[in-house]
Amino acid sequence: MAVLEIKTFPSEILKQKARPIDYMDKDIRKLSKNMGETMYEKKGIGLAAPQVDASLRLITYDIGDGLCILINPKIIKGEGEIKGEEGCLSVPEVRLEIPRYEVVKVTGLNLNGEEISFEAKGLLARVIQHEIDHLNGNLILDKVSKLKRELAVRKLKKILSGR
Ligand code: ZN
Repeated sequence: MAVLEIKTFPSEILKQKARPIDYMDKDIRKLSKNMGETMYEKKGIGLAAPQVDASLRLITYDIGDGLCILINPKIIKGEGEIKGEEGCLSVPEVRLEIPRYEVVKVTGLNLNGEEISFEAKGLLARVIQHEIDHLNGNLILDKVSKLKRELAVRKLKKILSGR
């Protein structure tokens, strides 16, 4: 297992739409395990494959119930709207208020290639929506007003240039 490098804004891969995964093989399993390890090491609660330079539809998350890996995740239904602060390992030290569905119905595949479907609410719903955004090339910066984005980008550039 290995801790992977996290791509940060404005990396090109973070803007791309990630490819669906057609079959499960040992590379996908290895990537998932490494993403899990990276997520724990960096103290994130979710991670999407494009953030570790793999343009694939694969996400990991753990909101305290253990590591979950979801392949080709999709939101098939969303209800309600709730605002909440979010951060992102690819947008370090920036917190932005983002509106999300309160409850979502999610489908996807597990590591055995079996289809799974479940309902998520609260923090879990928020994390899954955030990670699926990554698969579609969207960051939290893309979900706020132009002014808020500009302020956040300015702060981010300062932080990243000091690294
Ligand atoms: Zn993120």
